[in-house]
Amino acid sequence: MTDECRRALTTAAIAAVGATVGIAGLGHLYLREWGRAAAWFSGIISSAVMLISITVGVETLTELSAIRISQVPPIIAVPIGCLLLLSTADAHQTAKVKINQTELPCCVSCGAEIIPALSFCQWCARENDIHTQSK
Ligand SMILES: [Zn+2]
Repeated sequence: MTDECRRALTTAAIAAVGATVGIAGLGHLYLREWGRAAAWFSGIISSAVMLISITVGVETLTELSAIRISQVPPIIAVPIGCLLLLSTADAHQTAKVKINQTELPCCVSCGAEIIPALSFCQWCARENDIHTQSK
């Protein structure tokens, strides 16, 4: 398994764990896609609030916060679950696209991709050879 493949699968796993506990955008945060993560998180939260307020009939945030997960009817849980599944799929797809676009140098010590702007490997703290050679 290549590093790119492993990173895409790690992203999908993180996104799936986040979706399981109802938090969209965790996979996007792992990819440092801040805007996309915020869009998925706020979009799904606002969709859930809107659907709950319409179908259950709550009018205030206090009433909304008193609702338990077990009280959420399937007519709300199913579309929110589908949105969480879509966010997981989007995180995996974003990882695949992002990996194909970036050709980062690899650390000679641990083999992980390193950020060229740093003077050291962010994974094993070894000095970055790119900066060593330019001095
Ligand atoms: Zn390293």
